[in-house]
Amino acid sequence: MATLKEELDKLLELQELDTKLKDIDALLEDLPQQIKTLEREDIAIQKELEEFQKTSTHMRVERRQKEMELKAIEEQIKTLQSKLYEVKTNKEYQALQTEIETLKNKKSMLEDEILVHMEKDEEFKKQEKQLQEKMEKHRNLKTTKQKELEIKINQLKEERNQIKKTRDEYAACIDMVLLELYARVKKNKKDGIAICRITHDSNGSICNGCYVYIPGYLVEKVKRKTEVVQCENCGRILSE
Ligand SMILES: [Zn+2]
Repeated sequence: MATLKEELDKLLELQELDTKLKDIDALLEDLPQQIKTLEREDIAIQKELEEFQKTSTHMRVERRQKEMELKAIEEQIKTLQSKLYEVKTNKEYQALQTEIETLKNKKSMLEDEILVHMEKDEEFKKQEKQLQEKMEKHRNLKTTKQKELEIKINQLKEERNQIKKTRDEYAACIDMVLLELYARVKKNKKDGIAICRITHDSNGSICNGCYVYIPGYLVEKVKRKTEVVQCENCGRILSE
């Protein structure tokens, strides 16, 4: 049968393991989220690139249409110009000339438009390349990071199992009632600290959980180690 002192010492060690388990659990919740974030970012860049390529393709199609239109106008001008030699009257000649002028104006406008398109196309190609590079860079980062995170998660799970095993061994050495009290106090403490040592200064003894001075008779009880003592202020189990 273990003495109360031994049990309290074990309980302090057990608490340390519980703190480690809590930290590991927090990480085990956070790390998979990091993987998901990387995946989400990857999909977002991919989508950005796809949207861009769609616009780019659309623009190329538009340009090709304009080029075809230009070719047709050039043909038309040629045909009309050859007709100039066949007309009989001045009026007909004038009418043909006007038609040719109109087509020439249209041709000139189309040429300008095509030029703008070509410039835009160049700009788009540059941007597309940048986007592709961005995607590749992120994909590589994602792969590396993912591997690292998966390894880390597996290590943590392994570590968790080990700590849990030791914790259960410790728990087996501690009285059930004391363990239950520990669990009850712990549940209400944000820092997870349910048992703490007392420290002494020139004014008296302090609970290391809430940093309040402990009355002398309680300090005596803690020192006697015949019964479990709780801080009157915070309820934490006190140990010498
Ligand atoms: Zn206290």
